[in-house]
Formats: sequence, C-alpha cells, structure tokens
Amino acid sequence: MPDIHALLSASSSKQWLHCTPSARLQEQFPNESSVYAAEGTFAHEVCEYKVKKYMKERVKRPQSEDYYTEEIDQITDVYAEFVIGVIEEMKRNGCEPLVMVEEKVDYSHIAPSGFGTADMLIIGRDENGKGILHIADFKTGQGVFVNADHNSQMMLYALGGLATYGYIYDIEIVRMSIIQPRLDNISTFECTRKELETWGESIRETAKLAYEGKGEQKPGDWCRFCRAKPVCKACKDEALSLCREEFLDLDDGALSDGAGTSSKVDMSEPVFKQPGLVPISELAPLLPTLNRISSWIESVFAFISSEAINHGVPIPGYKVVEGRSKRVFTDTKGVVDTAVANGYTDLYKKQLITLTEFEKMMGKKKFAELLGKYVTKPPGKLSLVPESDPREAVDFSNAPEQEFAAIPDEGE
Ligand code: SF4
Repeated sequence: MPDIHALLSASSSKQWLHCTPSARLQEQFPNESSVYAAEGTFAHEVCEYKVKKYMKERVKRPQSEDYYTEEIDQITDVYAEFVIGVIEEMKRNGCEPLVMVEEKVDYSHIAPSGFGTADMLIIGRDENGKGILHIADFKTGQGVFVNADHNSQMMLYALGGLATYGYIYDIEIVRMSIIQPRLDNISTFECTRKELETWGESIRETAKLAYEGKGEQKPGDWCRFCRAKPVCKACKDEALSLCREEFLDLDDGALSDGAGTSSKVDMSEPVFKQPGLVPISELAPLLPTLNRISSWIESVFAFISSEAINHGVPIPGYKVVEGRSKRVFTDTKGVVDTAVANGYTDLYKKQLITLTEFEKMMGKKKFAELLGKYVTKPPGKLSLVPESDPREAVDFSNAPEQEFAAIPDEGE
C-alpha cells in the first residue's frame, strides 16, 4: 500500500536517499491521488481479502464498480498464490509462521518519523531451519520494472519489521519479494539480518539530512514521482545545459541565462550547431538524461496546464479552450424503450466472452483440456530498456536483415 503522511516514506526512499532536499521541497505541492493510485489501493484490498480468506479470517470481499476487472482478479491471484506459497513452505519447514497482512512498520530508529505499511510480513523458519523474515510487496504498475535487489523501500520495511518482531524465531535471514504481475515480475532479494542492519546504519546520516531538507538537489531516475519536479531548478539546469552542450553553438551565441558568456555575443537568438547526422554511438549515452528531461518537460506542461485549467492562472501567450466532445445518450432505458416502441430491433451486439471468463466458467483443468489447443500467447511488443532491466534480452541473431541501415558511426 502507498505510504501516507510519512515525510521519509519507504516508497519514496530512493528519491530522498539520492536527493536529500526533495522530501521537504515537495511538501508544498499537494499529493494528488491519481486514477492509478486509486486502482492500486483497490487491488491491494483485494490482495488482502484473498490472503485473509486463505487464513480463514472473516472478511468481506471489496467491491468497486470503477476498478473491479477480471484483470485485477488475475493479478491479485498471482500475489495471493505467491504469499500462500511462502506460508505453506514455512509450514513444511516445521514451524507455524507468524503472518501479518497490511502491517504498519516503524523504522524511525533509522529515518526520523519513518513509518509505512508492508503488504505482507511473514516470520518463520527457512529450509535450513534458520529464523526468517519474509516481506512481500505487491505492485500494480506496468511502467517501470521494480527489482527487489537492494530495494530501499523493502529494506526499510524489513528494518521496521525487525524492530518490532526481531526477537521471534531469532531471525537471521531477511527475504524481500516484489510481485509485479502486470510485468510478469516476481523478484526476490535475500540478505542476512546483519547486512540489513549495517545498511540501515549506513543511511542514518543521509536520512537525517533529508528530514532536515538539507543537501544538494541531484536529478536522476528517482525524480520520476517527485512532486517538485516541474519547478525543480536542478532539473531545469540539467535540461538546458544538455541542450546548450549538444545542440547549440556557444561560440556563435546561444540562448543563455547570461552566466559566463561574452557580452559581444548576441544572446537573443539560439545558434544551432552545424546540421549533420549524429551517429548512434553519440546519441546512445544521452538516453538516460534525455529520458529524464522528457519526463521533466511533460511534468512542466502538466503543472502549468493544471494551474491554468484548474486554478485560472493566466499563462502569457496561452489560453484555455474546450476540446471536441462526442454525443452521448443521457438515458439508455429511454432510448431502448423509444426505439422498440417504434419498431426497431437488433439494438444490442453479442460478444464472445473472454478467455479468462471461459477459464473461470470451466475451471483451469477443463479449460486446458477443451480449449487449450486454441490458446496462444503472442510475443510482447518490443521496447528498448536500460541494461539493468532484469528481463532477458531478445535474441536478434536469427532475425532477417534490417530493411534500413542505421546511420553508421564515423569511420565505418
Ligand atoms: S525533481 Fe529535483 S528535487 Fe525532485 S528528486 Fe529530482 S532533483 Fe531532487
């Protein structure tokens, strides 16, 4: 579940650990809940329901007209099956695990006022009989692959879990799993309790700086969810300096804020570098920064648009207009009654139920037996991602020749 209220939340820890002033800087911007966040909250409730039902607790199935879909049912099944598997395995290891769902954890001994809610905390014994704390976190996002390896959010939850329950089963091992079904991602990281506690000590000073709002603004991939992003000076400076270095000719005059530039040079117009073709080898190193800049530009447009549209702030040179809209029926029943009364028929379309609905109706086994031969899983859409992404790279060695050659590097 998303952390609410903690300034140094575990879910934003990557951000405040790298850019310590960011936690305080973004305080002045409202934490507006998005549709995705609302859907994520509902999906977490369904996960909680499924696990508690397995634990034979009396629970009411969460309902939502807006967010309940078959797909939500599927992805929460993946999570529930995973955590139930962990619990069952601990039982096979000869212990009765302590299971906590949506457990509030307090890691304020490491990060001032730090607390959060761990989706799942399971304490028991591992396959070697050692005491283990297993933390599981459900992610509904499909934009970015989240890796459990040294994931600071999970490590903070684990430190909070240890602070409260560390004495049970004499925990020696900590296992942290991220379940992100929309990207087929189940990622687990394991370390010893001592390693985790050493890491906790290592970030104590940084957390203190972050709490005090001190330190240097540092752009990076952690800017993604920073609410200060549209007005962040470090992001603006990074974007403009890249443009200056890569695309503008500073010797012949270029747009500038005036710092360190000659007064003889006309700064009123940008002078672009000589046109030409840039080889991929020169573009590729720019990708991480360009990604960040493109996300910053989007956030600036979104922020300024929201100020104009929602708060009436005048933006020089721009105006707010109404977009095109489509006609809609105001009263479906009235439409049907009137059409039927006037002799019109065939008002509804029939559709085949979906693959998942078939599977639910028949059960997995019968479905595989009867319809399995008609099911295929087409390859996913290809996308370029950083090397650090844990998915396996596509093998192009047997692919047909490319129709168009890329721009060759110089000297080729
Ligand atoms: S957007 Fe600015 S303040 Fe926020 S994390 Fe990035 S550099 Fe720090």
